Amino acid sequence: MRGTVVTRFAPSPNGQLHLGHAFSALCAHDFARTFGGAFHLRIEDIDGTRSRPEYIEAIVSDMDWLGLAPNEEAQFQSQNIARYEAARDLLTSAGLLYRCGCTRSDIAEALKHKPVPHGPDGPHYPGTCRTHPFEGSAPFSWRLDMAKACALAGSLTWTDLAAGQQYADPMAFGDVVLWRKDAPASYHLAATLDDAASGITHVVRGKDLFAYTAVHRLLQHLLDLPEPVYWHHPLLLDSNGEKLAKSKSSPALSVRRWAGENGPELIDNLRQGTLMLGISLSDA
Ligand code: GLU
Repeated sequence: MRGTVVTRFAPSPNGQLHLGHAFSALCAHDFARTFGGAFHLRIEDIDGTRSRPEYIEAIVSDMDWLGLAPNEEAQFQSQNIARYEAARDLLTSAGLLYRCGCTRSDIAEALKHKPVPHGPDGPHYPGTCRTHPFEGSAPFSWRLDMAKACALAGSLTWTDLAAGQQYADPMAFGDVVLWRKDAPASYHLAATLDDAASGITHVVRGKDLFAYTAVHRLLQHLLDLPEPVYWHHPLLLDSNGEKLAKSKSSPALSVRRWAGENGPELIDNLRQGTLMLGISLSDA
């Protein structure tokens, strides 16, 4: 595998990075380094309502401070919109996307009258615009007709280095949004396309994103993209069992940086913790 491994750390600049992010970046960085491969930094900055330039600056400075240098300049999703548009158009011409004009309250109202399955992201979209595609001039999103897409793809699997071979079950999410009303592309579409374009061989990210891989695997199939191997690493938890990134007891990395903490030392402590957890990057 030496030399062929490419990983990435892909934070969204909608807040300050925490220790949980440092751990995730460390996992992706060390995995690549262990195999003599490359490590990329991708800033997922397409959510115009939540992304902020000061968070982007903080991410770049935090990574520098931690000593987790990417092999190339950071990539920005906001520069890849044409790539997302091309994929959206391809899926639309294959008849797999439909326009949805529903607001949150439209959906809540429809759900009062229609029982739907609940998936990892909550109740499925009730299908209002699948049967009556939206034709107005108000902003609309593009949704994937999940049943149609899954029928086309047949059964799909993916490999996780920690959890083993998995059957992909994208139906569990219902008709996901692939193009948002308020932002170009959804996380699913943008991340899947960028991973392929950057030649990411191993997607190393937190276990909280495990279930989404089913949707990404489906998109890879529909868009004829290569299938990476995944490693969903364990999440750092605080003493209450809460995800560290959301925990009040975990100061932002930038606060630690300003307070004069030593970044590489922090990373080394996390590495020791990783060994204690029994995670061996070289065995993965
Ligand atoms: N941008 C996502 C986040 O900050 C991570 C995406 C990924 O690693 O696939 O949670």
